[in-house]
Amino acid sequence: MVFEGTIHHMLLLHLSDVDEANWALKFREALGDYPVVRRGDDFDPADIRYIFVWKPKPDAFDGLTNLKAVLSLGAGVDALLRHPKLPRDVPMVRFIDEDLSQKMTDYVVAQVTMHHRLFTRYQADQKARRWVQLYPPAASESVVGIMGMGVLGQHAAERLKALGFTLRSWSRSPRSVEGVEGFAGEAQFDAFLGGTDILVNLLPLTPETQGILNYETFSKLRRKLDGGPVVVNGARGGHQKEADIARALRDGTLGAASLDVFEVEPLPAESPLWDIPNCYITPHIAAISNERTGVSYFSRILKDHEAGKQLVNVVDFSRGY
Ligand code: NDP
Repeated sequence: MVFEGTIHHMLLLHLSDVDEANWALKFREALGDYPVVRRGDDFDPADIRYIFVWKPKPDAFDGLTNLKAVLSLGAGVDALLRHPKLPRDVPMVRFIDEDLSQKMTDYVVAQVTMHHRLFTRYQADQKARRWVQLYPPAASESVVGIMGMGVLGQHAAERLKALGFTLRSWSRSPRSVEGVEGFAGEAQFDAFLGGTDILVNLLPLTPETQGILNYETFSKLRRKLDGGPVVVNGARGGHQKEADIARALRDGTLGAASLDVFEVEPLPAESPLWDIPNCYITPHIAAISNERTGVSYFSRILKDHEAGKQLVNVVDFSRGY
């Protein structure tokens, strides 16, 4: 498709650690005669109007002088925002997708119910052929506190609500969601923590939220569950201080932790977390962007934008998410 005389409009794919060739194939099917190119193809960077990125290399944005939007395969854009050559005057669209939300909710619900029903404790007892009857409180008497009440936090809250848990949330601005007690801002953080048994982190990683899962935070959680409070991190490794998690798990400040993300990934073999029995590690698999829904989502956004419509789900650079 050629516009404005000799000026071409193109979509450039710049994806690392995923099957870029296959994404290109699917985009070409979805976009028809709108040109889709990859690094290494023969094209003039000035013709690129949209770049679809995941883990971009240092030169990713070089020469893209006519860019209209950066399309982020990731729902979280913290790494992309740290790219030194990211054009700050070009809007960035992030991925929001029911399939992605559902997968994250699956992870959160699995971890919350596992800890709530003491399955980890009973697995250890089974191995030791030990019969000890512990009765967890009803879901309604157990409080799950969700940090981050955006797309993912709200999705998880709906499903946990249906399971009968008592819910509270913490966000930057006040959020009113039926059946969820809302807390907002730094001023209400301690009150939020003080009534939380199971802390679920679904925040974006920003300078404000970096390292928020630390010893002080853990020591403010409610101590009602047998074994102590629980933390579940499905967001970013940068949110957690792993030395603090290890210390809190060892001294009982935390009863258990479920971690999908880490300060350094893959988690180094020498990390103490591997050996702590009440630390449940998964290798950043909670939710992955789906090719089929991703291509459909971004193709629609590109076509609409080319037709003059506003971009949606645009990242606010000043907030960092
Ligand atoms: P959203 O932008 O929709 O929601 C973010 C929420 O966090 C909002 O409620 C926001 O508050 C709140 N928040 C942001 N900053 C602060 C702060 N300083 N203090 C308190 N609350 C704050 O994000 P999503 O729900 O779509 O995604 C959240 C994160 O999950 C992503 O940024 C990404 O890093 C991570 N993720 C991880 C995946 C994985 O596989 N590990 C997969 C997908 C996402 P407010 O409502 O006031 O704006």
